Amino acid sequence: MSTEPAHTGTCDTPRCDEPAETITPEGYVCEACAAKLAAHYESTRERDADARGER
Ligand SMILES: [Zn+2]
Repeated sequence: MSTEPAHTGTCDTPRCDEPAETITPEGYVCEACAAKLAAHYESTRERDADARGER
């Protein structure tokens, strides 16, 4: 058994062919897509906090 982490090779984002770098809830994606996903989750969390009045 290899101890190498599983590599899918390329980004899981449709139509993105960058080399995958980071694992996210959306899959194994490149650095640029990971940054976009992180920003998306950040804004979603802020919006949820606003909706609950937890500021
Ligand atoms: Zn990508």
